[in-house]
Amino acid sequence: MKRIGLIVGGGLLLGGVILTYPMSTRDVQGDTSRPPPSYQERQDTLRRGETLSDLFTRQGVEAFTVVDLVRSLGLDPRRVREGLVFHFRQAVQDSTPSIVVVRTSPEARIRLYRASTGWTGIRESIQWVPEVVRVAATVEQSLYTALERAIADSVLGSDERTRLAWDVAEIYAWSIDFSRDIQANDSLTLVIERLVSEEGDTRLGRVLAAELWASGRRMPAFRYADAGGHPGYFDDEANSLRRAFLRAPVEFRRISSSFSRSRYHPILKIRRRHEGTDYSATSGTPVMAAGDGRVIRAGRAGGYGNLVEIRHVNGITTRYAHLRRFASGIRVGRVVRQSDVIGYVGRTGLASAPHLHYEFRVHGVARDSRRVDLGDGKPLAEALRDGFFTERDRLHALLTLLPRAGPVRRIAD
Ligand SMILES: [Zn+2]
Repeated sequence: MKRIGLIVGGGLLLGGVILTYPMSTRDVQGDTSRPPPSYQERQDTLRRGETLSDLFTRQGVEAFTVVDLVRSLGLDPRRVREGLVFHFRQAVQDSTPSIVVVRTSPEARIRLYRASTGWTGIRESIQWVPEVVRVAATVEQSLYTALERAIADSVLGSDERTRLAWDVAEIYAWSIDFSRDIQANDSLTLVIERLVSEEGDTRLGRVLAAELWASGRRMPAFRYADAGGHPGYFDDEANSLRRAFLRAPVEFRRISSSFSRSRYHPILKIRRRHEGTDYSATSGTPVMAAGDGRVIRAGRAGGYGNLVEIRHVNGITTRYAHLRRFASGIRVGRVVRQSDVIGYVGRTGLASAPHLHYEFRVHGVARDSRRVDLGDGKPLAEALRDGFFTERDRLHALLTLLPRAGPVRRIAD
């Protein structure tokens, strides 16, 4: 159903903030000794273990009718979660509220109002309008802090900036291990969508283009839909950024940023040749298969603790050690696809703290998984290339933005 606007005027209620505006022209222009506000507004939050009936009853609303009503408007009372915020509006002369508003998702809200015939309601969709924004960030410590500094709160809130860091790490999951391969003076330019709601809230939309300079290497990424209509990221030459192997088999967002680079083995108390890369992460963090392959080991293996080993094409094997446990179904012979969860971070074997020990071997010889050449990505289908190049040029112009070119906001440099 379409949003029908301001049914009774007064307050526009959203996410904890109540914006008030005049009830009507008459109210504003009324006599100078304004009457006290005739409405009272309050909000209430669904608490742990509470039902909708509990909350409505507490607010003096006839729960019996209203719960059925919200169900008919698409909010399943059995699926509501604690923390859901309800806004109530009550005329001062009344003993119960006459309007209830609850935002059920970023895209929708339900508005209930009490008429003389009883409660009725509507479901309103919240419109989000994308706005293209260019972001330029220089790394001092990490991707997080770089984006934190480059983007003002008024443009995107802190949570959304963190999400942006995760999205960027995902775009480059096959080329860069953001947990350790990003250094001071590396830089990142992005063209992103910032979505603005009709209520003025902002959130992150899609990342349209990126240009990362890491260790003097330029890595462009342009968003485009492949032949199946699935969006992906491609370089200047229309080659996919995807490769046969992920750089890190743990999601960037799960990896501890305070990771120690020391190779000093805390249990053996000796320095030893390290054959892999360690990722410090909370116990239980999912570990992914770095590439397609077949499990050739899933069991206890001395200092490795619980170990999964996968054989891939071209004599490549990968090992994942110290796992707390294996993912269900992971056993010898099992075929896995890239990014399938194969186990969970733990500290079995010789490990003093939870971490993943990851090895990348070629014909049995350990290689640095972060440096090994994974070749070019798959090129975009021939039929799509012309369209891609047009889009690439458009996005490239936005990335290298010339001041005041078009409707793009330049927010940081
Ligand atoms: Zn290790």
